[in-house]
Amino acid sequence: MKFNILFLSLCLCFFQMGNAQMNGTKGQKNVNYKQQISTDKIERPKIIVGLVVDQMRWDYLYRYYSKYVDNGFKRLIREGYNCQNTHINYSPTFTACGHTCIYTGSVPALHGITGNDWYDYKYNQKIYCTTDTNYIGKGTKSSAGQMSPRNMKTTTIGDELRLATNFRSKVIGIALKDRSSILPAGHAANAAFWYDGKAHNFVSSSYYLDSLPNWVADFNNKKLAAAYLSQNWDLLYDKMKYTESTEDDMPFENPFKNETKASFIHKVSELSTETSTEIIRYTPFGNNFTFDFAKAAIEGEQLGMRGETDLLAISLSSPDYIGHQFGPNSVEQQDDFLRLDKEISTFLSYLDSTYGKNNYLFFLTADHGAAHIPDYLKTKNIPAGVFVYDTLEKILDKQMNFWYGPGDWILAFENQHIYLNKELISTSKKDIEEIKTKLLDYTQNLPGVANVFDLKNIANENYPAELLENIKNSYYPNRSGDLFVNFEPAWFEGYEKGTTHGTIYNYDSHIPLIFYGWKIKAKEDFSDIKMTDIAATIAALLHIQEPNGCIGKPIKGILK
Ligand SMILES: [Zn+2]
Repeated sequence: MKFNILFLSLCLCFFQMGNAQMNGTKGQKNVNYKQQISTDKIERPKIIVGLVVDQMRWDYLYRYYSKYVDNGFKRLIREGYNCQNTHINYSPTFTACGHTCIYTGSVPALHGITGNDWYDYKYNQKIYCTTDTNYIGKGTKSSAGQMSPRNMKTTTIGDELRLATNFRSKVIGIALKDRSSILPAGHAANAAFWYDGKAHNFVSSSYYLDSLPNWVADFNNKKLAAAYLSQNWDLLYDKMKYTESTEDDMPFENPFKNETKASFIHKVSELSTETSTEIIRYTPFGNNFTFDFAKAAIEGEQLGMRGETDLLAISLSSPDYIGHQFGPNSVEQQDDFLRLDKEISTFLSYLDSTYGKNNYLFFLTADHGAAHIPDYLKTKNIPAGVFVYDTLEKILDKQMNFWYGPGDWILAFENQHIYLNKELISTSKKDIEEIKTKLLDYTQNLPGVANVFDLKNIANENYPAELLENIKNSYYPNRSGDLFVNFEPAWFEGYEKGTTHGTIYNYDSHIPLIFYGWKIKAKEDFSDIKMTDIAATIAALLHIQEPNGCIGKPIKGILK
């Protein structure tokens, strides 16, 4: 034994000596080795520009095709990689979830953004997705600036790009809506900027910055919103050309506040005041204004001009505001898209001249689609309907009080989830399973409701697997309810006039997705692609780690 230990020690000694010599030689060689370190960089584009068009239904690419100019949407369709069959694979199809999914490749069950708002059992209150009172606004004194991405639990592709380049890459999010700039940009972004029409400024939060950069202050000083609004919103072309839409001024459209009719000319100059230019959101000028700010950001931050790949996440919020107000069949939405088409053409030319045609990676997509206005569908005998906001919750409250006596049995109905008051159920010694079964049967028999699912038992439901999967993907403990109310197709919870989105049906879940530019070939791909695949594809193209909660897969046809 002793011999063995001695022998081993000797061996170790020789080995160490040998190693030391090798190290010595290696040390000398290291000099050469160092000289031989390759300085080749992984090939990457100068910049990635993501353009999310809020509430752009997939069919808008084709519905207005014959009226588009040559180099806007048509250029992307002609020269880009067009994923024709891209669907949202979670519920609800709302703005915050959509923007988060596009840039995280993840679903509410992982990233935790279960809606624009949700009831939070942890804090026993309703929460707005990006509100964070730990921070103060920059460019605004109001709560419009008290924002951060803290409720989002996963990284974005921008966060991963920053990590991958040791934070040399810059990542910036821009939108009129706070959630549409903050959630795409991510946790480690350089900044996110959004519009506060009461401050007349693009603003940010102390989460990102101590003060607004000079280029933002200079941009705000130009007061462009007021200048745009002074033009009023008239049709771009002769009224007779809008043959893809129903006539102007339909009873199911929603006029702007202080407007008597939902028709052109929309005198938005009269709807804008010294104290608010918020109305710009509801006009196509909101898109121009956002592109103006995006160009200012590119120039102010020298994005894509510093030898490192940067990411600019732009979201155009106005198509969503216009869609809610007037619906997908309106002259207003058609005019918005014909104008946007021209703006996209101009913006692509700008990117060409700034970076060179194949040096930027561009993608166009949407956070969700939209339903046709139910009252419009009804005029064509297509089944449709609306639960006006709060009515369903009131019906359910009334029924629960009838069964179990007075009490706040239901805390909220949000994102199609019924949130039960578990504390009250427990203290009054009621059986929660029995309550769920009774409430499920009752709700399921209401007109306009297709099914009600127990969110904890969703896998056993008799319903198409893919749609069940989407509902399952919406479940995040503490931020989700107990029962999921699945409306009949073309039914939703909304206002009497105008429209909305949020369901698992195709008109809400089918989104456009076109990649264009750097290393992208022209192709139409009809394979089954999910919204979660977008971030996975960007990660693969850049050779960086996918976001930490990403469940999507790279789109193979793009990488081949
Ligand atoms: Zn949206």
